[in-house]
Amino acid sequence: MDVYCPRCGEPYELLGITDDFTQEERSSFWDGKGCPCCKGKTVESKPFRAEATAVLRDILGDDIDGIASELDDMEYMEPQLMHGIEEE
Ligand SMILES: [Zn+2]
Repeated sequence: MDVYCPRCGEPYELLGITDDFTQEERSSFWDGKGCPCCKGKTVESKPFRAEATAVLRDILGDDIDGIASELDDMEYMEPQLMHGIEEE
């Protein structure tokens, strides 16, 4: 399952975050301070999927599997909203 950076919306495999990120990268990611892709860069406009991840993080807290599962449902229901206009 994929999750998205709450700051820039970059997709990541959930297992990659759990296994490959350092503790610091993980905290930064889930606290919305940035992922290895956007850290130190300006994010011009937040994609919807980034906002969605940030909101789910607020609601579900450390339930990372729950967040990933909600995002998965959302992608199924709203593929255009999740991957629409801002996709490069
Ligand atoms: Zn990012």
